[in-house]
Amino acid sequence: MTKKTFPLSKKELEAVVSRFPTPFYIYDEKAIRENARRINAAFSVFPNYINHFAVKAMPNPAIIRLLREEGFGADCSSLTELLLSEMSGVTGENIMFTSNETPSAEYRKARELGAVINLDDFTHIEFLEKTAGLPEILSIRYNPGPLKLGNAIIGNPVEAKYGFTREQTLEAFALLKKKGVKRFALHTMVASNELKTAYHVETGRILFELAVEIKQKTGVSLEFINLGGGVGIPYKLEDEAVNYEELAAGLKAVFDAVMVPARLAGAGIHTEWGRAVTGPYGWLVTRAIHRKNIYRKYIGVDASMADLIRPAMYGAYHHITVAGKEDAPLAEVYDVVGSLCENCDKFAVQRHLPAIETDEVSGDLLIIHDAGAHGRAMGFNYNGKLRCGELLLHADGSITQIRRKETPGDIFATF
Ligand SMILES: *Cc1c(COP(=O)(O)O)cnc(C)c1O
Repeated sequence: MTKKTFPLSKKELEAVVSRFPTPFYIYDEKAIRENARRINAAFSVFPNYINHFAVKAMPNPAIIRLLREEGFGADCSSLTELLLSEMSGVTGENIMFTSNETPSAEYRKARELGAVINLDDFTHIEFLEKTAGLPEILSIRYNPGPLKLGNAIIGNPVEAKYGFTREQTLEAFALLKKKGVKRFALHTMVASNELKTAYHVETGRILFELAVEIKQKTGVSLEFINLGGGVGIPYKLEDEAVNYEELAAGLKAVFDAVMVPARLAGAGIHTEWGRAVTGPYGWLVTRAIHRKNIYRKYIGVDASMADLIRPAMYGAYHHITVAGKEDAPLAEVYDVVGSLCENCDKFAVQRHLPAIETDEVSGDLLIIHDAGAHGRAMGFNYNGKLRCGELLLHADGSITQIRRKETPGDIFATF
């Protein structure tokens, strides 16, 4: 069981709303920092650990900067994400550039920043060499194919477009060595939002065993192994959060059993967690403005799927509470809907909730939980919808607007 919390009382939230009209995302800086510290502490069993925060989960410099202060780097997959990292003060090998179908300009920018480039395909060795030159360090993204079962969001690795096969991975390290590359890393990313510790430990085992084979067959000793992202968060009340200490200890046991005897004990462990870092510490706050009773009861809110697409896209569950009615009986069954002309624009379907008051000025404030990753980031402008802004709640209770709401002018600017 997971308890869903929100850092502000109804009164405090109303004060925030009087300054920043709904809808908005709000993130809890203190909770994000504490979580980052817990991750670092758990993984301190590995001497050279770093999490490259997946920028796509929360592409806001204020967040990337505060995570940099906690020792995190950045995981980027596009030119814009590289620029975002740069402007947030994350550069050099603290950036992992895990891209695919990459244009040469992006490789050149990654080279300029000194990022660790993580190649997605064998043909990109030559492409990179010709267009940006081979750097001193390179990482290879491995796709374990039939060795590993994926999960619902990312799918079956055999069908996934990412990475090198096992044979190609071995061949690639031999080739890179011949071409004068000096330092090497191995990466995989096979799951998304996976809560089972054993699944992630098993991914580690596959990579560690491959690292040993790489050493035996090519003489390459890996400098680090990047286990990717994909650690889940408990969206549903009945979900259990991943226990970081248990996960790190499980990985360490396999590392010691597989890597140490092969004299690979010096290899660092890297991760690219996004969702697990910020997901539970962000909320979408929206006001209930309309009600509609037809075949079902609908509550219309001032946010839409343009602000948070996960429920529409994956049928994802996001817990919803009503400010000030946290302990009220769940007396009604509603679909909570946004204003987009798509019937999938529903934050909740047939959800048991307290009776909700609707009004454009004084309607209930709904808090949509676990929206701190892949939330605002996945927003869009279909139907002329303007994406909402983002607020950061600091430890002293003060609030900074870290992204304003969009205006029609933002859309017209590209005409
Ligand atoms: C999306 C992604 C991540 C982050 O995934 P989370 O589920 O947010 O942890 C990390 N690495 C790569 C390559 C990704 O595509």
